[in-house]
Amino acid sequence: MIRYALACSKGHTFESWFQNSAAYDKQAKRSLIECPLCGDSKVEKALMAPTLAGTKKRGRPSAPLAMPAAMPAPEAAPAPSDTPTPVAMVSPEEREFRAKLKELRDHLTKNADNVGRKFPEEARKMHYGEAEHRSIYGEASPQEAKDLHEEGIEFHPLPVLPEERN
Ligand SMILES: [Zn+2]
Repeated sequence: MIRYALACSKGHTFESWFQNSAAYDKQAKRSLIECPLCGDSKVEKALMAPTLAGTKKRGRPSAPLAMPAAMPAPEAAPAPSDTPTPVAMVSPEEREFRAKLKELRDHLTKNADNVGRKFPEEARKMHYGEAEHRSIYGEASPQEAKDLHEEGIEFHPLPVLPEERN
């Protein structure tokens, strides 16, 4: 499950859960998503910070989390790895959210190669076909992340756990 913050054409923002991003695309294309405030079906993603829900059933209803509806999108390109990303969160959902971040992070780090500081180099090699595509993670400075982004290289920030930020 993935949660998107959405905005209708009148500027109302709301959140909705989808099976995955393809499910969102399909529903959006068919105008199946309606703004709960005004019923407008011209809806688009309000920001680029989807929250992943656990894929296992936890017996807890997925009640809407009391998060700020819109986190400000970072100015610079999303930075991978350990570069802290500004986030705003409120308790007690924060704990659950952090557990999910950890889950996601553990999954990524288990299933991808850690290339450390060579991340920008490795990402480029794959992008330009000099190396085989695989899952990698590592570190990049904000500037390097920005450069990669400008070259059209797709990557995603690795969730940073607050306690690792010291
Ligand atoms: Zn609306």
